[in-house]
Amino acid sequence: MKRALITGITGQDGSYLAELLLSKGYEVHGLIRRSSTFNTSRINHIYVDPHHVDARLFLHYGDLSDGARLVTLLAQIKPDEVYNLAAQSHVRVSFDEPEHTGNTTGVGSIRLLEAVRMAGLDCRFYQASSSEMFGATPPPQNEETPFYPRSPYGAAKVYSYWITKNYREAYGIFAVNGILFNHESPRRGETFVTRKITRAVARIKAGIEDHLYMGNLDAIRDWGYAPEYVEGMWRMLQVDEPEDFVLATGGNYSVRDFLTVAFEHAGLNWEDHVRFDERYLRPTEVDALIGDPSHAERKLGWKAGVHTPELARIMVDADIEALEHEGRPWIDTPALPDWLATR
Ligand code: NDP
Ligand code: GDP
Repeated sequence: MKRALITGITGQDGSYLAELLLSKGYEVHGLIRRSSTFNTSRINHIYVDPHHVDARLFLHYGDLSDGARLVTLLAQIKPDEVYNLAAQSHVRVSFDEPEHTGNTTGVGSIRLLEAVRMAGLDCRFYQASSSEMFGATPPPQNEETPFYPRSPYGAAKVYSYWITKNYREAYGIFAVNGILFNHESPRRGETFVTRKITRAVARIKAGIEDHLYMGNLDAIRDWGYAPEYVEGMWRMLQVDEPEDFVLATGGNYSVRDFLTVAFEHAGLNWEDHVRFDERYLRPTEVDALIGDPSHAERKLGWKAGVHTPELARIMVDADIEALEHEGRPWIDTPALPDWLATR
């Protein structure tokens, strides 16, 4: 049985990747942060009491800011594959918390890579790199496109990208960068633009709210579907030689386009409900990200199936259903996570 460690398992991608690896027969270990409130709602539905003989998902407290903990944990778990998905992942927030973002999203990666090296592991390492690294460089962007980050988040991801490449070259570690363009789902954090929109559509449709405040509607993004992207991550670690890959749909949609599709799907007109608030503008904006995923298609056989308009409709439907069930869009979660209740 293969063993994987996922940092960021409680996030959007971590939860889908955990499901995928469990379905492939892996034993899955996840790093979670101690929090005063439960932060495991995205993975409660796959959690099995560790005393059960069939349990294959194990959670461990830890933090990317705590290098010593990462070393002991890696030495204890001895994973075959490590997926580094943990990060302060919000671009706008990175302008408010630049140092924290650098510490987690940037230096956190070298702490984990050093832990792999110090624990003497022969394992494969995935780094969650981002299209935000391209920043101001015009599209289409691929693996050869120069970086020009436009935020503390983008700059921290560039550091992690290069340190991952450096550890591959310096120490022969099978370490790869997945350079992923925006990918979304009903599990996307509520303050990213897609989820903010689809959640508002559901609430406006239900009569709970009437409007939402937004920033720059001209930004162009290449929004794909997160469950497909975690399959791409896994494939990157299954090839013979470590290489970096872009995952994207190649689509070209503005925030305004996303608003149009999402509101129309619920029979609404976005112009009746969207108001401007400059607080959602960034000091430096990334105007356009459109990926060229042809390298991944050729080498990994990976291709996006869900494009932005369908994604918007999936997310609106999920948010409407969640409201109707007074729950979250991935319902099926026990009221109290047993494993936390025992600590
Ligand atoms: P989320 O924001 O949903 O999840 C981030 C995860 O990181 C959470 O589990 C969070 O824990 C954890 N985390 C944050 N800080 C720390 C820390 N100091 N130590 C340990 N864990 C921490 O992100 P996504 O799932 O959307 O993205 C996964 C990764 O991919 C991130 O690195 C992101 O930057 C990157 N990425 C995402 C893209 C996207 O479009 N989704 C595009 C390109 C890259 P908690 O739940 O406790 O907050
Ligand atoms: P990002 O691409 O990682 O920054 O993902 P986001 O979903 O946070 O933002 C995507 C784009 O939407 C950016 O260009 C934002 O400036 C733009 N945007 C416009 N209004 C909003 C808003 O209210 N919230 C967020 N998060 N983004 C907004």
